[in-house]
Amino acid sequence: MNSEKKYIYSFEEGSLDLKPILGGKGASLGEMTSLGLPVPSGMTLTTEACNLYFENDEKLPEFLKEGTKEYLKDLEEKTGKNFGDDDNPLLLSVRSGAIISMPGMMDTILNLGLNDTSVQGLAKETNDERFAYDCYRRFIQMFGDVVLGIEGYKFGRTLDILKEEVDADSDLDLTTENLKELVDQYKNIIKDEAGVDFPQDPMEQLITAIEAVFGSWNNNRAIVYRDAHDIAHDLGTAVNIQTMVFGNMGDNCGTGVVFTRDPSTGTNELYGEYLLNAQGEDVVAGIRTPQSIQTLKEEKPGVFDQLVEVTETLEEHYQDMQDIEFTIENGQLYLLQTRTGKRTAKAAIKIAADMADEGLIDKEESLLRIDPEHIEKVLHKQIDPEADPEVIAKGLPASPGAAAGKVIFSADEAEKISEQGEKVVLVSLETTPEDIGGVIASQGVLTTRGGMTSHAAVVARGMGKPCVCGCEEIKIDFEAEEFLVGNRRITKGDHITINGGTGEVMIGNVEMTEPRLSVESRKILKWANEAKELGIRTNADNGPDAKKAFEFGAEGIGLCRTEHMFMAANRVPLVQQLILSESEVEKEEALTELEPMQRSDFEEIFTEMKGKPVTVRLLDPPLHEFLPDIVELVEEITELKYAEEDNKEELNKKQKLLRKVKEMNESNPMLGLRGCRLGIIVPEIYEMQVRAIFKAVVNVIKEGVEVQPEIMLPLVTHVNEFKRLRKRVDKVAEEIMVEADIELDYKVGTMIELPRACMTADEIAEEADFFSFGTNDLTQTTFGFSRDDSESKFLHHYLEEGILEDNPFVSLDPNGVGKLVRMATDSGRQTNNDLKVGICGEHGGEPKSIALCQEYGLDYVSCSPYRVPVARLAAAQAKIKSDRE
Ligand code: ADP
Ligand code: MG
Ligand code: MG
Repeated sequence: MNSEKKYIYSFEEGSLDLKPILGGKGASLGEMTSLGLPVPSGMTLTTEACNLYFENDEKLPEFLKEGTKEYLKDLEEKTGKNFGDDDNPLLLSVRSGAIISMPGMMDTILNLGLNDTSVQGLAKETNDERFAYDCYRRFIQMFGDVVLGIEGYKFGRTLDILKEEVDADSDLDLTTENLKELVDQYKNIIKDEAGVDFPQDPMEQLITAIEAVFGSWNNNRAIVYRDAHDIAHDLGTAVNIQTMVFGNMGDNCGTGVVFTRDPSTGTNELYGEYLLNAQGEDVVAGIRTPQSIQTLKEEKPGVFDQLVEVTETLEEHYQDMQDIEFTIENGQLYLLQTRTGKRTAKAAIKIAADMADEGLIDKEESLLRIDPEHIEKVLHKQIDPEADPEVIAKGLPASPGAAAGKVIFSADEAEKISEQGEKVVLVSLETTPEDIGGVIASQGVLTTRGGMTSHAAVVARGMGKPCVCGCEEIKIDFEAEEFLVGNRRITKGDHITINGGTGEVMIGNVEMTEPRLSVESRKILKWANEAKELGIRTNADNGPDAKKAFEFGAEGIGLCRTEHMFMAANRVPLVQQLILSESEVEKEEALTELEPMQRSDFEEIFTEMKGKPVTVRLLDPPLHEFLPDIVELVEEITELKYAEEDNKEELNKKQKLLRKVKEMNESNPMLGLRGCRLGIIVPEIYEMQVRAIFKAVVNVIKEGVEVQPEIMLPLVTHVNEFKRLRKRVDKVAEEIMVEADIELDYKVGTMIELPRACMTADEIAEEADFFSFGTNDLTQTTFGFSRDDSESKFLHHYLEEGILEDNPFVSLDPNGVGKLVRMATDSGRQTNNDLKVGICGEHGGEPKSIALCQEYGLDYVSCSPYRVPVARLAAAQAKIKSDRE
């Protein structure tokens, strides 16, 4: 045991930088004392003293008892009161305070030092007997609860019974006599429950209280809490021993909590609640209904002015919004705690922007203050805070925002019904790429299976559509077109509301508020643009998405997928005709019809992007994704076979289709005939797409709009694939330029999404104008994990067990996939100085991955439209942090 070491600090000796040993509360009390603010005097026993207590068989070592007594003398001198004195007793609070706050996990005791004689001294001294017994009964209860481990409700129940007997509405209506009786009853509870008399020796009270607070570090709920929040178990808690001030000495006294700014809106005005003639946690415990802090202005203007002054001092000192506990004793304000206040996304943004404007912090600091996710949270429709909905189930909060509509169980039907102008919520087990139309048509999606990176979740986030996933409580009966949750039955067409920010599912159309970027958000994003280095592009496949992203500040399109253009209901038959055609004529027909459709899509997108670069990826998925499902086909054929009426022709058609589907079936489609391989084997499709792109470019330029087209070839693994396809792209481009008599500037590049492409990046870069890392596929192929299946089969287990720290499909894996990205970028630039490098996987919108992209020196990241503002802020933060290193 090291007695040289300092285990006890007076508040005068404490400060913020001693937080690791004084705990959050102790450090803030010390800091406020040094600032000259009105803090009742006291001392802190350190977290290291807590560890000594545990090493010493859960007893306070003798030398610490002596030390405490020494400091106590000091307190007596400062206050002119004596601990244990019969006439003028010094009363104390004993308060726990860990380094990381663990709300409600550990305990506080007030009014310590009272006993049967000193309570009378206190009564005489203050000339208020009622007050003295009010303190005493509170103390006995807290001591019984915290030190002797008697459940709090036993005291609460006794109080309630007494109130009823004497017909008292509130604790304020209890008379001195009532309180005296309560004290006797409480002492009896202690005797009955703990088998001891309530201790009358103040020093015994103090030492056992310190020991109990230290001991509470290892109570069950504290351990569970630390496990859940990844807090180390050996940190220990500090104990603060502080002179009492009294908020319960009449109507010129009170207690309350105040935030220096409104934590829900961020408005720069005091926000909080107080109660007159009350003590401790009365405000929080809901003993009486507290009053808004703004009424204090009228009720006690003098105190309110003191409050304004100290809150300003605190905010200026901490340079952040503070959450403050205070007590008023006879018109004098005392501070009992301050800490950085928790706040909503909206408030976080407003406070950071306002503080920079006020000159309290600089712009860089203000950008660092905001969690990038906050920017997205404020972009969606929200449940009206005034609404009081009936919540029937809870799933995973997969994509933020609120959505309401009629329950529909199939994507096709969702499409149909929404065309009639109805709002729908698609409810399903999970969604698949074929459901995309239904997802687009719905206000939001609710699935009963699948996690945060399931298809529905990813697609919904991409579209900025609210989504609740994996809501297992809900049991869908597709045949009856209804779902059950508990014993509640929701039928097709019933209205529900989902909140993708919380995972809640509610009955009916709940009131919502409209989304928009606030003035402060726009200000923050403007500063972000000034600070960031990375370009921010978007993944957008259609005009409306491109428009949205442009409004959010996208500097181009990093990935325009063309397969979605094939999925639209009126185009699927044409695509099928193309795939199934047996003659060149048939194929030609389909292509001729598809080309102008694609062209007009591109025209729309180019127009929306107003001259910014647009990367178009040529068709990537295997063709069988456009064909009917094999099992469904077999079922249909069986039905036709046993049907009564004559349907030979229909049957023949289906059988032919089935043969084709079987023929195209692959056991590993992800590694099969797709991407540039398809472009090489079935050249007509890519040629048609390239024609559509360049014709669109020509048309749009004629309208006076600038375009920077970039053609991207997917899934290249060997430079020869790229060479061959590039030649064809250049040829088609040339033809169209000649035809239109116009010179076009364009780039041809590749998606880098296979490990071999990374290893041979130098060779590929000699031929390509740009690289865009497709980190979804690159993660699949580097890990050898299927994105569609791994999550439910084993990935969640890996994450729970800590085999993997992060989900690599959510956050770019720095040691494996990230290393490949860095290597390919460097070696690509070695052979091609002008190589542009970006990333377009889901990772492009994820802050941690964005920081890696900054580190690797990429030119841009590309993400879904609603992630663009998030990415702008994250990119700014990454740059600021890397400059500071
Ligand atoms: P918690 O960590 O649960 O907030 P605290 O130690 O802050 O617990 O104490 C709870 C409340 O007890 C405080 O908000 C304050 O109202 C009251 N309190 C604590 N110490 C004193 C004191 N010295 N004088 C008056 N009231 C006190
Ligand atoms: Mg507190
Ligand atoms: Mg891919």
